[in-house]
Order: sequence, then structure tokens, then C-alpha cells
Amino acid sequence: MGYGMEARLALRRHDFHFSHKLGQNFLLDEQVLSQIVDAAQVKSGDCILEIGPGAGTMTAEMASRGAEVLALELDKGLEPVLRAVLAPWEGRVSLVFGDAMKVDLSALLQQRFGGRPVSVVANLPYYITTDVVLRLLECGARLDKIVVMVQMEAAQRMMATPGEKNYCALAALVQFYGEARKLMELEPQLFTPPPHVVSWLMEIKRFEERPVQVQSEEMMKKVISACFLMRRKKLLNNLCAAFSLGRPEALEAIRVAGLEEGVRGEALSLEEMARLAGQLMKTRC
Ligand code: SAM
Repeated sequence: MGYGMEARLALRRHDFHFSHKLGQNFLLDEQVLSQIVDAAQVKSGDCILEIGPGAGTMTAEMASRGAEVLALELDKGLEPVLRAVLAPWEGRVSLVFGDAMKVDLSALLQQRFGGRPVSVVANLPYYITTDVVLRLLECGARLDKIVVMVQMEAAQRMMATPGEKNYCALAALVQFYGEARKLMELEPQLFTPPPHVVSWLMEIKRFEERPVQVQSEEMMKKVISACFLMRRKKLLNNLCAAFSLGRPEALEAIRVAGLEEGVRGEALSLEEMARLAGQLMKTRC
């Protein structure tokens, strides 16, 4: 029996009730899962972090190809289902029950994989897509590739550019970190139960060399979040609030970075943000 059927039977046997609140829309079709794992280019020996394994179907597909998977699931009620579905690949899969928004991801990955390069492959719970992706980008672990199933609108936000309505901190951070591209589109009926949205499988591949050079990544991340702190407010107000600066200090930083006084944060390109970060490093140190 394949893992897809095993998952369906185990979910029934354990009388599992899907939680809308936890974003539980599972993929049980082996053909679809195989296409997803193909698109993610998972191969033997890869170290994978999967957030939200659900019934363990994608976990099983990746483990069957020889990958080592660390699967982090919040819902302890799924444990008997996961143990049944993943029994054939016990040696390759580590199950951890915890909240992806709270656990120390860096420590967990270090403990499981040592210093080996890690990729993320996950069908994310959509209620925390943005927060999880930001957390992955900021956690400090070296994640070479992040392949995530997200709601189409979130995917479009990741790829938005300055001047577009949906340009946001997520877009700037994703594009500072790596190159984002769409791998696949999935219709709602491919999921159990079907969500009310179309899903895109996205790949964010870490740059070997960043598109903009910064002295401090920390400062760049702070500037990115400051730029979008209050939308439609001037960058000046956001900088004063985010860095506890007086108006003259903030104005000076904006001016020396070569920006217009009245510019809005959401209009800045990565290069302009990097210039501002460089300038703030000088005034703050
Ligand atoms: N990977 C499975 C699949 O493709 O069938 C399930 C994906 S489902 C969209 C999202 C999964 O994330 C669910 O199993 C849910 O319980 C889990 N989840 C929700 N919130 C979580 C959190 N904060 N940390 C870890 N897992 C979470």
C-alpha cells in the first residue's frame, strides 16, 4: 500500500478532525506530491526541514528518495497518524512536536544536521505564511533553499517590486536574501479539505552573493522593517519611530543617503535601503 492510502486510512482510523484554525489542508495524492518533490529537486542525502508535515505524506515522498527530514508539527493529535505513515522511513525522519513560530530553529537544525546545508520544503499553514517565511529568513541558520507552498496572494507579495501596491517588508527581505520564483500552481481541489484559495509552490534560492552590499545585515533588516512600519507615512516619521531618532538626525540620514526628504518608505529600492542602513550605522555607532 502506498503512503497516500496509508495516510487516508490512518486519518480515518484515528478519527482525525481537520482544524481550519491550524491551516490543515493536506495533500494526499501521491502523483501531486511526487511532482512537488520533483520541482523542489529533493535528492538522496539532502537535509530537509519540513514545517507542518500533517499526515506525513510529503515527508514520506522525500524520505523515499533518500532525503533526511526533520518534520516539525504543532498538532500532537497527528502523532499516531505520522508514526503509522512514516514507519517505513523511521531512520530518515525525525519528528518534533512544537510551534514553528516559537522553537529555536537554528538550535534544532544544528542538533539534527550538524553544520550540513539545509533546505526547507513545506506546505505551509497559510495563517502564518508571512511570519514563518520571515522567521526562516531571519533565524540565522544557513538555509540554501526554501521551497514553500503558499497562498497565491502571499507568493505575489514576495515578488512585488517598489512602486507596486503589494510591495512590503516580506518582498524586500525575500529579495535581499535570494531569488524568488514560482514553481507550480495548485488548484484548491487537490487538497483535503480544499482551501478557499489558489496555492503557488515558491522557491526562494539564497544568493551566493547579495545584490546589494551592506556593512551590517542586522541594520539592513531593521531599515527594511522601518520602511514599512506605517504605510503612507513619510520615511522620516518611520525612522524617528523605529530608531528613536530626533527629526534633524533622521533628516540628515535621509539626505546623506541621497533620498528625497518627503519620500515614503515603501518607495525605496533595496539599494536605497542599503545606503540608508550604511548611513544609520555611522550615526548610531
Ligand atoms: N505537509 C502536509 C501536507 O502537505 O499534506 C500538511 C500541510 S498543512 C497545509 C499545514 C500543517 O502545518 C498542518 O499539519 C498543521 O497542523 C501544521 N501547523 C500549523 N501551525 C503550525 C505551527 N505553528 N508550527 C508547526 N506546524 C504547524
